[in-house]
Amino acid sequence: MTIAQITDALEEFAPCAYQESYDNAGLIVGNRQSEATGALLCLDVTERALQQAIDRRINLIISHHPVIFGGLKRLVGSTAAERVVQQAVRHDVALYAAHTNLDSVRGGVSEKMCDKLMLKNRSILQPVKNQLVKIAVYAPSAHAEAVRQAMFAAGAGHIGQYGCCSFTTQGTGTFLAGEQATPFVGKRGVLHREPEEKVEVIAHESKVSSAVAAMRAVHPYEEVAYDLYPLLNEHVGVGLGMVGELEKPMETGEFLRLVKQTFNNQSVKYVTSGRSEVCRVAVCGGSGGSLMGKAIACGADAFVSADFKYHQLQEADGRITVADVGHYESEIFAIEIFSEVITKKFPTFAPYLVEYTVNQINYL
Ligand SMILES: [Zn+2]
Repeated sequence: MTIAQITDALEEFAPCAYQESYDNAGLIVGNRQSEATGALLCLDVTERALQQAIDRRINLIISHHPVIFGGLKRLVGSTAAERVVQQAVRHDVALYAAHTNLDSVRGGVSEKMCDKLMLKNRSILQPVKNQLVKIAVYAPSAHAEAVRQAMFAAGAGHIGQYGCCSFTTQGTGTFLAGEQATPFVGKRGVLHREPEEKVEVIAHESKVSSAVAAMRAVHPYEEVAYDLYPLLNEHVGVGLGMVGELEKPMETGEFLRLVKQTFNNQSVKYVTSGRSEVCRVAVCGGSGGSLMGKAIACGADAFVSADFKYHQLQEADGRITVADVGHYESEIFAIEIFSEVITKKFPTFAPYLVEYTVNQINYL
C-alpha cells in the first residue's frame, strides 16, 4: 500500500481544504508514491516518536500537530522541529498531519469530546461561512439525471447529514449553432429550442472543479451552459467546536468532576456561571478560547476546551461555566480517530500507537 492511499483515506474523512488559513496540514515530508511499511500515530512528532518509527522500520508518521507549523527557515538541528525534519528526511520517514481540518469535520476531535461526554443533539459550534458554491447546469432533459449523478459522485450535493441534494426546474433552452459548431441537436444556422432541465446543487469550494469536470464529462453539449454562484451560507457540516446536550441536566460541581474524570485530568481550571445545573455543553479540542463568545451565544451552560487566558475566562463573566482540561488531554483522542479511519478503510493494516508521547505539562 502506498502512503498516498493512507493519506487519501484520511483526507476523504478530513479534507485538507477544511484547514484554517494559518495551518499546515497535509503531507509535510516524504513521497506520496512510496510504499508504506507501517504508520505510527501520535499527537506530536517528538524526537522519541520519530525514533520509535525508525526502530520499527515504519516510514509514515501521522500526527495531529504539524511538525512544521510557523515555518522553518533553516535545518541546522537547533530546535526539536528542525532535528525531526532532518532525521525524517535522512531515514526516509514521511510526516503527515491532519490538524484544524480534523478539528473541523463531523467525527473529528471536537466530536470525540462529545462522544466522551456522551452529548446528544450535536451541531457545529462555529460553522464556516463563504465556502459554499451553487452550481446550476442546463442540460437536455434526457441527460439531466446523468449530470446530476455525476456531480453527486464528485462530492457535490451535501447539506448537513443529507447527501444527493439537488433542485430541478424544467424549461426551454435556445441556441443558434455557428458555422464551426457541431451541435448535439439542431442544425447550424437554425435557431433551436430544446426541452432542458436546470439542475442546481451546492458544493464546497474545494469540490467545485471536480464536480464541474464530472458534469462536463457526461453532458452531451459542445458548449455547456452552467453558472457558479458564491454563497454567503454557513456550511453546517464544517467548522470549529461543537455543542450538544447531556442526557439529563447535571449539578455543576458534578459536571466538573465528570469532565475531570473523562479527560483524565489531575486538576481542571474552571470558572462557574453561578447556575446550579449544566445541560447544554460546548466543546472545542485544543485552544478554544476564541470561541467563548460563540459558546455563550449558543446558550451553552458550560464550555470545555483548553488554553484559556485570564481575560477569556473573565469574558465568561458568570454567563457560562468554563472548564480548561488542557490542550493535550482535549486532543489526544485524535489518535483514536486516525486509527478508526485507517482500519475501517484498510481492515488488515494495523497502525501503531506512539509509545513515547507523554504530556509534558505537569501539575504539582
Ligand atoms: Zn492542538
